[in-house]
Amino acid sequence: MSNVLILLGPPGAGKGTQAVRLSAALSLPHVSTGDLFRENLGKGTALGQRAKGFMDAGQLVPDELVIDMLFDRVSHSDCGAGYLLDGFPRTVAQAVALDARLGATKARAINLVVADSILVGRLTGRWTCKQCGNIHHERTSPPAKRGLCDKCGGQLFQRSDDTVEVASKRLAVYHTQTKPVEDHYGKRGQRFDVDGSQAPDQVFAAMLQWAKQGAH
Ligand SMILES: [Zn+2]
Repeated sequence: MSNVLILLGPPGAGKGTQAVRLSAALSLPHVSTGDLFRENLGKGTALGQRAKGFMDAGQLVPDELVIDMLFDRVSHSDCGAGYLLDGFPRTVAQAVALDARLGATKARAINLVVADSILVGRLTGRWTCKQCGNIHHERTSPPAKRGLCDKCGGQLFQRSDDTVEVASKRLAVYHTQTKPVEDHYGKRGQRFDVDGSQAPDQVFAAMLQWAKQGAH
C-alpha cells in the first residue's frame, strides 16, 4: 500500500512551501498537476496533444484526462512508496475519480486551515516595482524606503491581482469549490486539519507527525 497524500489549502495558506518541505522530509515525490500539464504540453506527449485539442476548442480539459496524466506520472518507480499531490483534486468529481483509480489505496488529505481575514492580509501585501519587476512584501520583505524598490529605486505599485477585492474573490471561489472536497475526505476519516495560522515551522511539524503516523 502506498502513501498518497493530498494537500488542501486556500491561496495564501503556504501550501507550496509546505509541500516542498514535506516531500523532502518524507522522501515522497511532489506531484503538481499544474507542472504535469505544462510538461505534457511542452513535450507534446500524446496526453498533452489530447489536452491541447480541448484547449484549442475552448473547452475544459476533462477530469479523466488530468487523471490519466497523473497516473502516467505516478506509475514511475520513484512514486512506488507514494507521492504528495498538489493542486488536485479541486472538485468532488475529481476526488471521486481519484478514489476510483486508487482502488484499495486510501489517499489522505492534509487540510491547511487559515481564516480569510489572515489570508487576505497575506495575499494583498505584494508590491511590484514598475521599473524592474522586483516584488516586495509588506510582511516578509518590506522595502527599506516606503513605496520604493530596494533594487533599483523605482516606484512600487500594487497589481490588480493583489488587491483586497480580487483576493476576497479568489478565496470565495476556493471555499465554494473545495469545501465539498474537504467534506469528502472528512466523512471518510481521511482528513487532517492543521492550523495554518501558526508559524510555518509549527505547521510543518504538525503535518509531518500526522503524515508519518499513518504511513504504511
Ligand atoms: Zn526595481
